[in-house]
Amino acid sequence: MKLLSALLAVAAFAFAPAALARTCALSIDSTDRMSFTAPTLTVARDCKEVVLTLNHTGRMPAQAMGHNWVLTRTADVAAVAQAGMRSSLANSYLAPGDARVIAHTSVVGGGQSTSVRFATSKLAAGGDYTFFCSFPGHSGVMRGKLVFG
Ligand code: ZN
Repeated sequence: MKLLSALLAVAAFAFAPAALARTCALSIDSTDRMSFTAPTLTVARDCKEVVLTLNHTGRMPAQAMGHNWVLTRTADVAAVAQAGMRSSLANSYLAPGDARVIAHTSVVGGGQSTSVRFATSKLAAGGDYTFFCSFPGHSGVMRGKLVFG
């Protein structure tokens, strides 16, 4: 009986991808050298949802070299990062409830990973979007483009 339910679970999983095909997975690494490993992330137009995973491949703790992944319109980066500097690690170095933030992860330290799921309905095809790290002092170098469409 146990085997049968296991088989049924496998069968259900096998059919799941068709229904979930519009959830797209992205992943990016960050390092102890205050960097992201990709300058651009691309989300296909038919992705309904994105699950972004941020890995911190370094060793330094979040208090010293923490990283998060924050997505905003490019025009909002400076103001969001500025407001985030006055925030705290517990608040992911973002002003609580900042409506300019389209999506963000928590801040992680070396050896940790985190992820965020967001709907692409928040994005306009061809829009100008930037991802960055809002840890104080990082957004100047830790940033890249997110292309949708
Ligand atoms: Zn950072």
